[in-house]
Amino acid sequence: MSDCIFCKIANGEIPSATLYEDQDFRVILDLGPATKGHALILPKAHYADLTEIPEELAGKATALAKKIVTAMKTALPCDGYNVVQNNGLAAGQTVFHYHVHLIPRYADDHAGIGWKPGKLTEEVRDEVLAKAKEVL
Ligand code: 5GP
Ligand code: ZN
Repeated sequence: MSDCIFCKIANGEIPSATLYEDQDFRVILDLGPATKGHALILPKAHYADLTEIPEELAGKATALAKKIVTAMKTALPCDGYNVVQNNGLAAGQTVFHYHVHLIPRYADDHAGIGWKPGKLTEEVRDEVLAKAKEVL
């Protein structure tokens, strides 16, 4: 995709703070970090989101997340990690090139990554299970 910023960064056309690179991915520091060490895993090929990326590459991205998080936990060091992957405008995706956020967490960092828990009613449980099982 010629107009995609993450395609250009992933393929080295735009310089970035690169932590790691292999034939499939580049891992960079986020320019607007939630916390110190916030990184992004970018595939070098363009896929808009998790529904588009091939299963094998999605698996490799997860394995790479494990590798980077394990190393950075010691290197930074940090107390925990959120691995976040936004899909779609409604879910907070702003760059429509698949990417995985690796967000180091520190005790009392107040980064505010989360949601307000609701309550699973029997009606909603039954509806969701019935609809999902029909298409899975
Ligand atoms: P999303 O909201 O799509 O899940 O995440 C996009 C992320 O990309 C944001 O955290 C934002 O700070 C980061 N970002 C956007 N443009 C750039 C850029 O040009 N370089 C880097 N390193 N990060 C970017
Ligand atoms: Zn792209």
